[in-house]
Amino acid sequence: MRYLVFFICFLTCYTAFSQNIILMIGDGMGKNHLSCVHEKHPLFLKKLTPKGEIKTYSADNKITDSAASATAYSCGIKTNNGFLGLTPFKEKCETLAETALLKKYQVFIRTTDVITGATPSAFYAHQKSRHNTKNILKDLEKAKTKMNIEAVQDIESETKKLLSSLETTQQHFFIMIEESEIDKQSHLNNFDKMSQALVRFDKAVETAINFAKKRADTTVIIVADHETGGLTSHCKYTKLKHTGSNVFYYVEGKQPLSSYSKEIENTDIHFMIKNILLP
Ligand SMILES: [Zn+2]
Repeated sequence: MRYLVFFICFLTCYTAFSQNIILMIGDGMGKNHLSCVHEKHPLFLKKLTPKGEIKTYSADNKITDSAASATAYSCGIKTNNGFLGLTPFKEKCETLAETALLKKYQVFIRTTDVITGATPSAFYAHQKSRHNTKNILKDLEKAKTKMNIEAVQDIESETKKLLSSLETTQQHFFIMIEESEIDKQSHLNNFDKMSQALVRFDKAVETAINFAKKRADTTVIIVADHETGGLTSHCKYTKLKHTGSNVFYYVEGKQPLSSYSKEIENTDIHFMIKNILLP
């Protein structure tokens, strides 16, 4: 009898603890991006409390690019700028999307960038140059047989569409959603267009969190990969490139941890997610 109880608990408890993941990446979204945009367009994200800050440096540079930072999230290793899904020694590393597939999750990758952009491809490709589009496309073809990967125009409506399609699914899912225009417009120091992109991302975040609130099995993690443009607290851009500033991280929904460190490595986000995925 005791074994039967144990067995039943094993099945049900297992399910109770299992988690869906929605990982949302605001490319280039620094701390001042949030406060500066919030002054003119009140943000949902500003109602949330960040769990802490992320140190974004890569293996070979104190200022990361999006390939190395997305690899830190996807693989849990600091790698060289430009590398996708590879260690600094050019060995393939298993990405969260691949781990999720092995655990029988449905995997969705959505980006407002091109589909071979550094952030999405660090979840499905293994290449030593983010600029080798030909090879990334080969990896994409293979990945697409198992994962649902799409470049989208509007992150807000896509998030709504995707999540409503998953409302009744019985299978667990891992989603990575990226808004790339926050970075792109910051490279151009175009504050207005950056704001529009951040507002769209913010609405997608609100949609995801409302989805997670209605159920007990979904965690939403919101991060940036790095800061872009050296935006000051007075909302002036000072650079055309990325900086090494820390970025915020948020964890919402069913909380996997009772306490969070105030300052973490970008690779820690990977392990936080890996611990949430079914064992
Ligand atoms: Zn950039």
